[in-house]
Amino acid sequence: MTYLEQMFNKFNGDYFGGRVPRLDIRFSSLHIPEWGYCCQDYIIISPVLKKYQLACEGIVIHEMIHAYLYEDDHTRPFMDLQRKINKRHFGNKGNHAIHFDKMIKDLTKRGRYDILNHNPLGGL
Ligand SMILES: [Zn+2]
Repeated sequence: MTYLEQMFNKFNGDYFGGRVPRLDIRFSSLHIPEWGYCCQDYIIISPVLKKYQLACEGIVIHEMIHAYLYEDDHTRPFMDLQRKINKRHFGNKGNHAIHFDKMIKDLTKRGRYDILNHNPLGGL
């Protein structure tokens, strides 16, 4: 089982009562313009996130909420659920946004403007 499959299964049990439909989940082999993407059959995660575990966990949770709610948009119930799960998951490690900020700072420092120019939060 891959790293992302393990993460998916663990989060499904811990936060969704096992009710997220079983989807393929993998890192994209190409750079994609979003951090993550969810459709009916699969979730793909930007390969940039391989090096940023906590930010990656936040994105996997986010995409799983799309699958769980069958909802493409970031509606009020979506955001409420995301807030609730993030609070449980990240606890005193800070929220999802903090880990994202850290990652963005690191990418900026390393001159990865090619990635950052993609409006990184667009896919959230
Ligand atoms: Zn989203």
